[in-house]
Amino acid sequence: MLKGKTALVTGSTSGIGLGIALALAREGAHVMLNGFGDTEPARRGVAALGVKVGYHGADMSKPAEIEAMVRACEAEFGAVDILVNNAGIQHVAAVEDFPPERWDAIIAINLSSAFHTTRLALPGMKRRNWGRILNVASTHGLVASAQKSAYVASKHGIVGFTKSVALETATTGITVNAICPGWVLTPLVQKQVDARAAQAGVDQAEAKRQLLAEKQPSLQFTTPEQLGGLAVFLCSSAADNVRGVAWNMDGGWVAQ
Ligand code: NAD
Repeated sequence: MLKGKTALVTGSTSGIGLGIALALAREGAHVMLNGFGDTEPARRGVAALGVKVGYHGADMSKPAEIEAMVRACEAEFGAVDILVNNAGIQHVAAVEDFPPERWDAIIAINLSSAFHTTRLALPGMKRRNWGRILNVASTHGLVASAQKSAYVASKHGIVGFTKSVALETATTGITVNAICPGWVLTPLVQKQVDARAAQAGVDQAEAKRQLLAEKQPSLQFTTPEQLGGLAVFLCSSAADNVRGVAWNMDGGWVAQ
């Protein structure tokens, strides 16, 4: 379905970004990966699906590196047809104890990076009159939790940004939407499971049960594969007129 298209997926060396990269590759899209840590498993996973795979190590908090990444994708693959703004970080603390440098990093990586990738990728999408921009927000783009002020602000911000750019592109072949996962058991959430286990003196299974019971009525983690399926749908022609939505996949979290 996506044969010949190229997807640039930020933060795709693990977790949700990797799940989305693999799902798009399964549909035939070439993939430019990005993110930190060991990049080899992600590269091998995508290449095994028979598409071209690239990698750029841009730090999403640095606008000049973001620009170099978008240009590298265009140079290597000829286009950025699908842009998935997924890289994100978390920090949990009360607002009066929140380290200002953590606030700045969260806003830069979770929100401002999407402004930079979007402004740089959009002219090419407009020339081709086709594009998909998927912003990985969160249920925290729709509702709040205590101790996560920067994350909640960044995710509400990216939902607003999504709507604004969707309106600016509404008469074009470019759609812009947000995906709002509930709990997904990735390294980002594993840290919160570990903190809960240590604080409450419970084992991993109990810490996971408590985390889910607090927010996610299905009591099941959403998976990167399920989110990949939603991303594929949003890239399909069936979704040509889905514009500016913030689509939650959250086991009922925000239905409460
Ligand atoms: P993760 O920690 O598994 O993956 C994050 C990815 O971003 C990694 O590839 C990491 O290397 C990359 N990254 C981090 N900082 C970066 C930087 N400065 N520059 C470039 N890459 C960077 O986390 P995840 O849970 O897969 O999170 C992915 C996205 O999904 C985030 O935006 C997160 O807020 C969002 N999200 C996660 C959950 C969840 O429950 N896990 C729920 C809702 C939304």
